[in-house]
Amino acid sequence: IPARFAGVVGRYGPGLDEALVRRRQLRQALKQAVPGGELALVFQPKIDLASRRLIGAEALLRWHSASVGAVRPDLFIPLAEETGDILAIGDWVLDEGIRHLRGWHDAGRLADDFALALNVSSRQLQHDGFVEGVLRRVAESGLPPARIKIEVTESGFIHDLKEAQARLGALRAAGVGVSIDDFGTGYSSLSYLKSLPVSELKIDRSFVREIGHDADDQKLVETIIVIAHLFGCSVVAEGIETEAQLEVLRRLGCDEGQGYLFSPPVSVDEFARML
Ligand code: C2E
Ligand code: CA
Ligand code: CA
Ligand code: CA
Repeated sequence: IPARFAGVVGRYGPGLDEALVRRRQLRQALKQAVPGGELALVFQPKIDLASRRLIGAEALLRWHSASVGAVRPDLFIPLAEETGDILAIGDWVLDEGIRHLRGWHDAGRLADDFALALNVSSRQLQHDGFVEGVLRRVAESGLPPARIKIEVTESGFIHDLKEAQARLGALRAAGVGVSIDDFGTGYSSLSYLKSLPVSELKIDRSFVREIGHDADDQKLVETIIVIAHLFGCSVVAEGIETEAQLEVLRRLGCDEGQGYLFSPPVSVDEFARML
């Protein structure tokens, strides 16, 4: 320990140490996630707000490590982005998501407009071969490309806007849906809209939570919906927990929603029963 930290470590040492040890354990455990079969997808229904019809789902990743137990995605996904493990994990998500989607599709359980949304990290989007990987899987599955939607956050294109534009454009051109996740939480979101080929905006839960409490946040939600529609995008609100939030969103013209009001993320078996 460098001398200048001695005082700090003296006082906070054990906590700091434990955090570091825990991080190292997590990094090591992460290597086992894909080969050890420790990952699972859960599915959260997406609802058409006007008709309350089930028109899609978002696949969300869960990790139960043999060595460190269950770890929340908020914790292990940033770590996997740091270590690069997100590439193998992201491929697994694409494979597994499309495999389940194909099962439901082949069983004739899906409405024509049903789409499965898969989260893609910015590291994946920036990786050469990402677009080819998605399109190859779609082609192999035989599914209509519009059944699949890719959710990316703004951090995916601040790095290289031109490149992101080209990649997302290639997905859109092939008929795959592209959604901007956590919309409104990043920088200068609106300027991206005119240059990015996206089909959907996803309003972050933090704005939905303030509906009915914070008049400015409500105005922001209203503005996002109006602008999205001007650009020909549909709008999804995440984290809808109350009928009051649903009512406001519906009145503002929000197209789709997901949240605990309708259903938490559920296992694949449970989701299949909802179809
Ligand atoms: P996200 O993409 O913004 O996903 C929405 C999160 O909100 C999910 O948390 C979901 O379980 C939670 N949620 C849904 N409805 C409600 C609600 O009504 N109330 C509240 N309080 N929460 C709700 P989760 O599953 O813990 O995922 C956290 C984040 O981890 C996701 O945020 C996403 O950024 C990331 N993530 C999850 N799966 C994947 C994945 O397969 N790949 C990548 N790259 N990231 C993923
Ligand atoms: Ca998402
Ligand atoms: Ca979010
Ligand atoms: Ca506010």
